[in-house]
Amino acid sequence: MPWLTWNLRNLKGCLRRQPHHGPFTVNLRIGYRVRLLLVEDDQMIGESVRQGLQQDGFAVDWVRDGQAADAAWRTTEFDLMLLDLGLPRKDGLAVLKSLRQANNALPVLIMTARDAVRDRVAGLDAGADDYLVKPFDLDELAARVRALLRRKSGRADPVIAHGHLTLNPATREAVLSGTALSLSPREFALLEALLDRPGAVLSSAQLEERIYGWGQEIESNAIEVHIHGLRKKLGADFIKNVRGVGYRV
Ligand code: CA
Repeated sequence: MPWLTWNLRNLKGCLRRQPHHGPFTVNLRIGYRVRLLLVEDDQMIGESVRQGLQQDGFAVDWVRDGQAADAAWRTTEFDLMLLDLGLPRKDGLAVLKSLRQANNALPVLIMTARDAVRDRVAGLDAGADDYLVKPFDLDELAARVRALLRRKSGRADPVIAHGHLTLNPATREAVLSGTALSLSPREFALLEALLDRPGAVLSSAQLEERIYGWGQEIESNAIEVHIHGLRKKLGADFIKNVRGVGYRV
């Protein structure tokens, strides 16, 4: 099947990773944190993008058509949507318009092979926050996702600081009073979710939603276990338990 061989080779070229990964990337290759909705009907591209972003520490939920995308953003809270434009059942641009008409400010990054200026303008006018033309580099995609998330939470600085603690989502480093902490990927994700909204009480269900993607098996009392681990590393008082409601910092 020569066409398949061609397709695979072509796809590998489209979705290449930079060969020069150093220790920086090793730091990125852990864990789950921010929740992304990936809307892409191409099986191989979707698979590559999902895998790449998961390796960079994102929870990724993948749907393959426009109507499924609508159902997803209406029922689940995401941090960002990666949206292909040419989609079955409902066009990507129409999905974007529905989202904005519903007054939903979810950041949207369009990724499409349509590189005509007209399409780009239409996407941005319909409320997209950024635009990537296929073929694109997975590292660039991850960097743009991080930039949009920083903009969304109003942080120009990529480092989150809280008291004597700093978290760097890009390098996955956590430092407490000058000492680097060794956090598991889930612990890091959990801490980041809490620090995103200091003072707010987040329920176990909300925290689970933040750190696990669809279809991922969640151990019972998983959140409790991670909170326990974090308290051992951060001190018992850092994360407060609000009885029967949830947790906050
Ligand atoms: Ca498509």
